[in-house]
Amino acid sequence: MPDLVIRDCGPRDGLQPLAPIDASLRAELATRLLSAGLSQVEVAAFVSPKAVPSMAGAADVVAALGDDPRLWGLVPNVRGAELALGSGLRQLTVTVSASETYSIKNIQMSTAESLEEFGRIRAIASDATLDVVVSCCFGSPFETIAPSLVAELVGVLRETGADQITLADTTGTATPARLGPVLDRVGTDVGLHLHDTRGTALTNAFAAHGMGVRRFDTSLGGLGGSPFAPGAGGNLATEDLVLLFEDLGISTGIDLDALLETGRWLAEVLGHPLPSRVSAAGPLNPVAP
Ligand code: MG
Repeated sequence: MPDLVIRDCGPRDGLQPLAPIDASLRAELATRLLSAGLSQVEVAAFVSPKAVPSMAGAADVVAALGDDPRLWGLVPNVRGAELALGSGLRQLTVTVSASETYSIKNIQMSTAESLEEFGRIRAIASDATLDVVVSCCFGSPFETIAPSLVAELVGVLRETGADQITLADTTGTATPARLGPVLDRVGTDVGLHLHDTRGTALTNAFAAHGMGVRRFDTSLGGLGGSPFAPGAGGNLATEDLVLLFEDLGISTGIDLDALLETGRWLAEVLGHPLPSRVSAAGPLNPVAP
């Protein structure tokens, strides 16, 4: 068993701000990630194709991949949850935001409304695993976010039936100093969804692991970012996390060479290099005896 659970959100968060690519290519990306050893891949978002054109055809992506408990899909509301469940998915990430303004821009609901919506999703998705991904836990371009507010929100979500909680640093404002006060209040049985806007994502993952966190969201190549938060920046790159943690003797279960090969394939599909540093520089040599 690997020491960490890594969920690659590349086919969803990674591709979401980019020009749309075919559902079959998004499914192929997911297949390649699973073959490289990812135990979880977020493959689709069941959102309005008008709002996020690159996520159109979510059900086609799931249909191409078949029934697989390693696959996750993002849902912002009951309608999205109905579509995701209809596609056969049983692992759903549900969006709630600690930032009121971001919540309205992203999902057209206040935070309180989205908590009520989560209750309705829980009711229709009784046989699904729901991971509530709380946006803007460490800051927001729109408001200051108090750690106590995040803790209160997480408490309500746990009471309302969240199976898992993931704290998202949507706009890359977390630092090791800012992670501590939030993790102290919510505990370390959470996932972290990190963005690298200010170059702190890998440092934050390292620090959070030291504090006891064992679940991380990443994106192949460091692609990604919210279209609804100015300067969101890419996700923590999967290959950067794998290189560092494997070098530390922390098993990820992921084959770095296979990941890098998938990154080369994706760069060719997209027609531009990926932001990941390890993707650009390649793996480390073995340690000298
Ligand atoms: Mg994200």
